[in-house]
Amino acid sequence: MPESPQMQALAERIGAWLDGATFEGYAPLGFTGLKTVEPPPEALVGATLRRVDRRAKYVSLWFDSGLRIVFHLSQAGRVDLESPPKRTKPKGAVVRWRFSDDRAVLVREHGTERKAGWWVLAPGDDGPLAGLGPEAASDEFAQWLRSASDGRRVHTILRDQHTVAGVGRGYADDVLHRAKLSPYATLKSLSADERERLIEAVRAVLAEGLERERARPGGLSENKLGEHFTVHGKAGVPCPVCGEDLARVSYESHEVVYCPRCQTGGKVLADRRLSRLVK
Ligand SMILES: [Zn+2]
Repeated sequence: MPESPQMQALAERIGAWLDGATFEGYAPLGFTGLKTVEPPPEALVGATLRRVDRRAKYVSLWFDSGLRIVFHLSQAGRVDLESPPKRTKPKGAVVRWRFSDDRAVLVREHGTERKAGWWVLAPGDDGPLAGLGPEAASDEFAQWLRSASDGRRVHTILRDQHTVAGVGRGYADDVLHRAKLSPYATLKSLSADERERLIEAVRAVLAEGLERERARPGGLSENKLGEHFTVHGKAGVPCPVCGEDLARVSYESHEVVYCPRCQTGGKVLADRRLSRLVK
């Protein structure tokens, strides 16, 4: 669930907290976390951290040696900033990186999925970042939205990291609500005005999300990341715009929340989950 606003703010906090730190070592705590073999993580020992940034839902820690660590939290990954470093191995732990001045970064996952991962990349190697689409708030993506005749649903497009990077289920719901578009609307069916609304909604929702995330202290530790969405996960709650109860529909194995009055002209969308049950 962490999407670009959570990951961007997390990258900023890690960068500030580890400013000028030297990499001292690491403890691999999960079998599947490290996705690369060469260069080995040992090659980072003694390197000084130069900056921390984000691309899509990935955070990069750049070192003066030219190497970098990249990590991805998937759905349930979390990050603890530890000072002094702990020696514990919490359930779902992925890796603990140790830095100078008694600091450590622990990556772990709650729940049962084991999808969070990390990479050690040599200069020029983009690893998992290769092939990602443009950032959601970029001019490049806005231009694409204005002209593309993509027949997929906008909700699907927003979550496809090869088309546009950084948005997941949560902000996709909020973007469509903000733009007053049906969760079933296809991009090619949208008018020029609707496309402009969509571009504006993507930018506003992500900017507001980032502003909220910048108020979060520490790493990204909480199992529940907070009720920071406008409509996502809030079926049955009154729409903050019109007061109608928000509705849910099952779509591509997850739940989409929308406002029937604001987004679908009053129409309640058919829930495919029900039709599967009666098969
Ligand atoms: Zn509404």
